Amino acid sequence: ATLSVVPDLQEKETFDGEKASLLLKDLRKTFNSGKTKSYEWRISQLEGIAKMLEEKEKEILDALNKDLSKPGLEGYISEVSQAKSSCSEALQELKHWMKPEKVKTSFTTLPSSAEIVSEPLGAVLVISTWNFPFLLSMDPVIGAISAGNAVVLKPSEIAPATSSLLANLIEGYLDNSAIRVVEGAIPETTALLEQKWDKILYTGSARVGRIVMAAAAKHLTPVILELGGKCPAVVDSDVNLQVTARRIIGGKWACNSGQACISVDYIITRKEFAPKLINALKEELKQFFGEDLMESKDMSRIVSPTQFSRLVKLLDEDKVSDKIVFGGQRDEMKLKIAPTIILDVPDDAMVMQEEIFGPIMPIITVENIEDSFGIIKSKPKPLAAYLFTNNEQLKKAYVENISSGGMLINDTVIHVATRGLPFGGVEESGMGCYHGKFSFDSFSHKKSVLYRSFDADSSLRFPPYTPEKEKL
Ligand code: NAD
Repeated sequence: ATLSVVPDLQEKETFDGEKASLLLKDLRKTFNSGKTKSYEWRISQLEGIAKMLEEKEKEILDALNKDLSKPGLEGYISEVSQAKSSCSEALQELKHWMKPEKVKTSFTTLPSSAEIVSEPLGAVLVISTWNFPFLLSMDPVIGAISAGNAVVLKPSEIAPATSSLLANLIEGYLDNSAIRVVEGAIPETTALLEQKWDKILYTGSARVGRIVMAAAAKHLTPVILELGGKCPAVVDSDVNLQVTARRIIGGKWACNSGQACISVDYIITRKEFAPKLINALKEELKQFFGEDLMESKDMSRIVSPTQFSRLVKLLDEDKVSDKIVFGGQRDEMKLKIAPTIILDVPDDAMVMQEEIFGPIMPIITVENIEDSFGIIKSKPKPLAAYLFTNNEQLKKAYVENISSGGMLINDTVIHVATRGLPFGGVEESGMGCYHGKFSFDSFSHKKSVLYRSFDADSSLRFPPYTPEKEKL
């Protein structure tokens, strides 16, 4: 009995500003040695990550299941396999990314040549979130390493199993003189944010995004903010209904129970089409998750009691509770809320004002599908905007008129995994972007270099500015 008390009495060492400063000093020492800049070092670390992903897949999926009851296959598809492909793309392309980019020079600088050299920034900080706690931690780290930086990762305390696994794995598989994990919540993040980093990539809410940006501004540190927002899906009446319903479910309830930044937040459709769409959604939900949706093992739970009560509050608002046309069940013990559809809630309801980030789906109806544009534009610019239609004119108008981080026509969420596309928000949904080459670029400084020889100077360039020269 005495022995078992001892560990409880041992306080966890606090990570304060002093510790953060020492950690950064260590990383800068490594960075300044030039070690992280070499192609070989970057490759060795990326290979370390690839190895870790191969060897520890089960542990990663188990941690995701512990934190979110994320089904194994969903965890594999949406996190592990994405991290694998991000890592293998970096391994394949790094040589090419690192090559200086030749640029044509102008007549005035002839003879000369010019190039853009990508150089690492130094020591960078990645602050991650809980909903895809593995991928959204590792993907930015892959980018930071590819670009030759030292990096500290601060995973989310709301997903503690994944946070602790990341700390152990990174310690075991990567070079700890340059790549470190700091676990913790607000005090630890605040201690990190007091330091002068060379770049910060933050994923999470706009509220905390503002805190991060204000802290970074003190040091003139550039930031990438990966935030969220209310992502709309406009559904026209000419669609393949079954495919549309399946893809919307895929981007909502089968996507971490709607706890995803690019999850469909609400649907806009024509009044007369809404009943058909609702029926199709109900039908396909049952196909996906069985008759008793609350019992399905194929759907993640709500991450925490705080998030659960926030969602229940959205549903129980007077303006909303009588608009539920499907679902609405909740189980506080299991932190589960059934896939829920609400029809035509007023726009001033909380569920239409804040990002839902859960399994509730408002459907808003309009007379003409083009009326959807005004609704979307009345809200902050979303991280993603979706449209389902066969109408080419409508597609064109949507792309031209709706501003969002990313856009996907006739599907949901999979643009995020499309190689070659940047991922990031605009205005309230974020700033900057990453993924693949965009990650490399975001964690590099693009240095302009002009090479001249000692030949042929134009005398015009230098004083004295004689009347003869002026005539030329
Ligand atoms: P959050 O902002 O509460 O937490 C994210 C991180 O910030 C955590 O690591 C946390 O420890 C830290 N943090 C929290 N409060 C802090 C404070 N006061 N000072 C310093 N650090 C603090 O966000 P969340 O609830 O984890 O995430 C939900 C939001 O994230 C949603 O808006 C969602 O859309 C967005 N999101 C965006 C992306 C994307 O890629 N764009 C991905 C996932 C989630």
